[in-house]
Amino acid sequence: MNFNMNIPGLKDVTIHKVEEVGERIAIYVSLPKKVHQCPVCKKKTSKIHDYRIQKIKHLKWFERLTILFYKRRRYVCECGKRFSEKSPFVDKYQRFSKEWNQVAGIRSVKAKTFKETAEVLGASSSTVIRRFKKLVKEQLNEGVHLPKCIAIDEYKGDTDAGTYQLIIANAETHEPIDILPNRRKETIKEYLMKYGADVEVVVMDMNPSFKALLEKH
Ligand SMILES: [Zn+2]
Repeated sequence: MNFNMNIPGLKDVTIHKVEEVGERIAIYVSLPKKVHQCPVCKKKTSKIHDYRIQKIKHLKWFERLTILFYKRRRYVCECGKRFSEKSPFVDKYQRFSKEWNQVAGIRSVKAKTFKETAEVLGASSSTVIRRFKKLVKEQLNEGVHLPKCIAIDEYKGDTDAGTYQLIIANAETHEPIDILPNRRKETIKEYLMKYGADVEVVVMDMNPSFKALLEKH
């Protein structure tokens, strides 16, 4: 039985099946067939080439984590070009829905720790940190304002093996504020010179060489 239902972030999708898979609810979805424009020759086509299943993590539904099995359609054009259908809820090759990414970004800022957000949203901390970084990057133009009391924590970045990055957080609320690409003295010094005019207290639990540096600051 197919049905349509307004699940947040999943408008207009057809739901083919809903079932429990371990801790998660699996929702099998597809989009209605539609005329698409060929990205190469710009002609219109609605000829189906094949389907691919895209497995996507989505937001909670009735307090349960969900996973979408999206039967993504590929069209074929007269010119021979094969291309994936447009989807309002997930980009190509992504493992998280657009809605999920949005919520992860917002929650990563509001929640006290990345770990908490990761648990609530059913992902790893490193995924949440990546969304946070993206958000920070997007908002960088607005400028960073550091409070009087900041905390600096290090975490092992997942991009280059063995490199550490620094998380700057509000020491009172524990809200993450920024991420520095490495833990080199010059990096943090420059950062504090730029944004740290109001900083009076720095809380940290790490490399003692920083402490000396910050005392001088
Ligand atoms: Zn074409």
